[in-house]
Amino acid sequence: MRFVLQDERLIPTFSVHEGLPISQHQTLPHTPLNKQFNYSTQLQQHLYGKELLLAEIPFPLETLHEHVNHGYVQLSHGITKQNYIYICKRCGSDTQSLFASFACSRCGEDHCHYCRNCIMMGRVSECTPFYRWVGPEITEKTEVLFDWEGELSQGQAYASKEVVTAIQGNRELLVWAVCGAGKTEVLFKGLEYSLLQGKRVCIATPRTDVVLELTPRLKKVFPNTKIAALYGGSEDRQRYANLYISTTHQLLRFKEAFDVIIVDEVDAFPYSMDKSLQYAVQKARKQISSLIYLTATPSKQWKKEVQQNKRQAVKIPARYHGHPLPVPTFIWCGNWQKRLKKKTLPQIVLKWLENQLNSKKQAFLFVPSVAIIDNVVDICRHYDERIEGVHAEDKQRKEKVQRFRNGEIPIIVTSTILERGVTIPNSDVAVLGSEDDIFTESALVQIAGRVGRSAKYPTGAVLFFHFGKTKAMVEARKNVKQMNEMARKSMETMDSSFNK
Ligand SMILES: [Zn+2]
Ligand SMILES: [Zn+2]
Repeated sequence: MRFVLQDERLIPTFSVHEGLPISQHQTLPHTPLNKQFNYSTQLQQHLYGKELLLAEIPFPLETLHEHVNHGYVQLSHGITKQNYIYICKRCGSDTQSLFASFACSRCGEDHCHYCRNCIMMGRVSECTPFYRWVGPEITEKTEVLFDWEGELSQGQAYASKEVVTAIQGNRELLVWAVCGAGKTEVLFKGLEYSLLQGKRVCIATPRTDVVLELTPRLKKVFPNTKIAALYGGSEDRQRYANLYISTTHQLLRFKEAFDVIIVDEVDAFPYSMDKSLQYAVQKARKQISSLIYLTATPSKQWKKEVQQNKRQAVKIPARYHGHPLPVPTFIWCGNWQKRLKKKTLPQIVLKWLENQLNSKKQAFLFVPSVAIIDNVVDICRHYDERIEGVHAEDKQRKEKVQRFRNGEIPIIVTSTILERGVTIPNSDVAVLGSEDDIFTESALVQIAGRVGRSAKYPTGAVLFFHFGKTKAMVEARKNVKQMNEMARKSMETMDSSFNK
């Protein structure tokens, strides 16, 4: 039976460009695969492992529907309704307040509901179907060049083996590594193994910065592997690849696509807060697949699960160069906000600024909100005109970060956006107003982790200027000390086993 494209009742003026509206009550056809059909490999590459809206598919509608009729492409409801509850199939949202309705010209309904939660990726409404490839899989065993000469630390080597084993067994694994443990290198062997097996791999991270930093590194290590970087506005979004480096947001377009998903910085906002991103990861993995989580600061819940052996984990307490993590120093600076209103900063912060500039060592100065960056920069520029501020929406963000990397900016004032991924070899950090709610334990640990990452400059200062100590600050310092202690102990065991 052929699938009838036009339902007169629903679409009196069906237009090829708009595609086919579907209704909630409609059962969508599942045509058996016609093996004789000469399918388009281009369409296959575009749609495989994804669930896309018509607007995201640059092929003629006729081509698409031919593939539907021969069982190569399947349609599914974008929004479903169960017991009066709307659920968005792209982002998993079932928060009813995030569904709105409009008088829809496509389906002719007065109240066609759509999901506001994921609207930035194109509107999914009740009458919009998803298109998904259900034809033959793409199986490509390509040659994999592995071009890396570095050496793993003992902790890294152990974790690296565990990662490979987890991938082989299609298991979940948490890699709990301190900031600066060199967790990217821990993935190399696992990636090589996966690619050699023809597995499709995705490294997902909540942050675009991390995608931008990781992509060139991995392209160097795997020079003949097809690698795609996916983030809002990236050019690779349409490309088929073997290894994807993606923001967790972009994963929303995938379905059962990956044999291996590696989620970097699981604790990072917005991943930890946003259920739809966790849904995206689950949706994007194949039913038989492995899932590797990387983090420096697992949630309380996860730590408990690790202790109770309910969650498999491997810990790397030491940095790859073996030096301990710098422990944050708390410095009370009084009501800095009041001072800021008077266009100045607490004396002790200004003193730090002067010393920092004299030391010729670069530094990050973290502040709690984007709104005050400019004010703080203005004050700092009295001391050095090259000081810059940067934040997430900053149009010159990439360029400023690059100049900071080049050493042209002595101190960069920033909100939390640079806390992950950006590494400057010889730098210090300071936080102004570390008592603010935005600085969670995990954020503070990450901020402290910016310092002393390179073997050449393994130390540095981490200062928290505050107007009242918070639990998050205390916990962050405790976390750092615990990891250092654990690293010291594991070194001792290694030493004593050497001496036996
Ligand atoms: Zn949605
Ligand atoms: Zn509609």
